[in-house]
This record gives sequence, structure tokens and C-alpha cells, in this order.
Amino acid sequence: MKFARLAAAAGAITLAAALTACGSSAKTGDDDSGTGDTAGALVGVTMPTKSSERWIHDGNNVKAGLEKLGYQVDLQYAENDIPSQVNQIENQITKGAKVLIIASIDGTAITSQLQSAADNKIPVIAYDRLIRNSPNVDYYATFDNFKVGVQQATSLLVGLKLKKDDGTDGEAKGPFNVELFAGSPDDNNATFFFNGAMSVLQPYIDKGTLVVKSGQKDFKTVAILRWEAAAAQRRMEDLLTKTYGSAKVDGVLSPYDGLSIGILSALKSNGYGTGGQPYPVVTGQDAEVASVKSIIAGEQYSTIYKDTRQLAEVAVKMADAVLKGSKPEVNNEKDYENGKKVVPSFLLQPVIVNKANYKELLLDTGYYKEDQLK
Ligand code: BGC
Repeated sequence: MKFARLAAAAGAITLAAALTACGSSAKTGDDDSGTGDTAGALVGVTMPTKSSERWIHDGNNVKAGLEKLGYQVDLQYAENDIPSQVNQIENQITKGAKVLIIASIDGTAITSQLQSAADNKIPVIAYDRLIRNSPNVDYYATFDNFKVGVQQATSLLVGLKLKKDDGTDGEAKGPFNVELFAGSPDDNNATFFFNGAMSVLQPYIDKGTLVVKSGQKDFKTVAILRWEAAAAQRRMEDLLTKTYGSAKVDGVLSPYDGLSIGILSALKSNGYGTGGQPYPVVTGQDAEVASVKSIIAGEQYSTIYKDTRQLAEVAVKMADAVLKGSKPEVNNEKDYENGKKVVPSFLLQPVIVNKANYKELLLDTGYYKEDQLK
């Protein structure tokens, strides 16, 4: 808990410093970003889907932030359909958008649209997900995605009592049966989350403390296309039927709350979640309302809180800076190589949420109101 508080505070300080830096930057360099008179300019914002509540918050927050600065905003959602997102970006270019903020569905599928943006001198900001295989991505606003995976795996170990909150060894010895899930293979973040998690779990698997009973350990096998909850539910059902029989699964690494809900449903229909057979430790990400409620009810074990208000603020500041011809603040210029270049990035800090700290992290910070979690 102390850790989480410190991490949150550190994140807030870094953010405040960064935002001050963005806001106060009087430097006008980079005039070839083609900005000119940009007061009231149109900003194109594309988000992947409304089926997950985090993207709704992201979209609303980015729109409100930009409008507050006097910009016009075209905000579009594509329901995880790649051709729709491609069309939306093309339309925004045609309508004269002066900057594009894009949370891509498939990070490799918009190369030609980005070329056309570059031809029209429209800067592009990748939002949360890196856009790959294009030199025409100017900045990237995101969270420390490797750390998200490290935190998911760490909370799995804490839930299994192999570790304590303070990072020291817990009282349990194992071995424990665990299963692994990863996110959508076309989302660059999914690999970062998985690699971060495996950096923590692999030594336990090597020692035999954690046993992946299905043997399914590589990213491609455990990845769930488009982060689809129903697909995760089917895979969990399959694992329980084909691998487990009378054996028990003790932990499930789930990279996203939507998948965790599917996984928990499969577990429930196989008899888990009763006094005699409690749920395994199931992780998550995004602190979505349904999952926070599930954590409060003692079903899902943990989630990762990524304050979308902060992310939106970073993206808005980046857009404002490029529109004014100045250089946005970044804090990472090494980790996000997109196949063509290292994209200058601003990384925010994620935080582990569990039943013990959700009030402090999600209610005291105003992220949710108490009624929403009832
Ligand atoms: C985001 C996660 C989210 C996932 C599914 C990822 O790119 O970083 O926050 O859980 O997509 O929407």
C-alpha cells in the first residue's frame, strides 16, 4: 500500500513537472511541422472501441482538454474494426485536421494514412498504443507498459502469497498451477505487458514453483485477438476441460479487466467461486468499474490503475505544443522503437489496485465516486 502511494505520488510529481514544462515552453523551433496559425484548429482523435469503458473516458477527456484550449475536435470510435479506423483517419485528413491523435486498433495497419498525414504536414501523436512500421509518428503518450506487466505478475505472486507487498518472500512455497493470457497480438502494448510479466514469472516457472499445467507459455499461443472477452472465456473453458480435470488452477495472469471477466465466468461455470473452491488469483488492467466491483466482492484479485485523465492531459499538451510549433516534453527516447524509428515518448506510471487500496487510489483521487462501485 505504501508502495502504491509512493508510486502514485511520484507519478503525480513527474506529471506536474512535465505539464509545467510543456505549458511553459516558449520555444518555437520546429516550424516544419507545418503549423502556421493554429488557433481553433481541428484535431482528429481516433479511439479503438466503446466496448471498453477506458477508451470512452480517454476520448471524452482528450476532447474536453482540447476544447478547453479552443481547438475543435473530431472524435471517432471504430468498434475494433480496422477499415473503419482507416476511413476515419482519412476523413480527418480530408477535413483539414492539423494534428492527429490516434489510439490504433492494429498498430501496423495505418502506414499509408500516416504517409498522407506527413505529406500534408500533419503531426501524429500515438495515444497509449504505439503505431508501428511508420516513420510518420511524431510522439507517443502512454504508460510504462513493461512495468504494467511487471506489476500484474507481482500481484499474482502476492495473491499466491509467494511474495509480500514489500517485495520480500511470502510464506507460501508452492508449487502452484497457473495459466497465462496475453492481449491482442496486433497491439504493441500486449507484447510489452507479457514480457514485463514473464520477466517476473519465468524464474518461478524455471524453479517449478509455478507450473503452467497446459504447457501454453509462448505469447502467440496465449494471446487473445482484439482483447475479446468471449475468446478469453472460451480459452479458459478449454483449459479447464482439457488440462485440469480434478486438478485446480491457482492463478491466472490476465492482462486486461475485460478478459478477466470472461476468465472468471469460465471458472464460475466450472465450480470455482464457492467456499470449498475459491477463485484462483486473477489479475487485470484498467480498473474498470465491473472489475473493481469484482475485486470488492473478492472475485478478481487485482487490476492495474492507469489514470486516463493524466494520459489525456499529456496528449492534449503534446498536441497543443506541436500546434504552437514548440517541442512537447518527453521522458523516454529509447524504449519505443516502432520498426522505423524510436518514437519520443512520455510514459506515465501505472499502479497496482487491490481490495486493500482501491478506496485510496480510486475514490480519494476522484477517479470514481462511491456510488459507481456499489
Ligand atoms: C491498453 C490497455 C487495455 C487494452 C485493451 C491496451 O492497449 O494499454 O489499457 O487494457 O489495450 O483495451
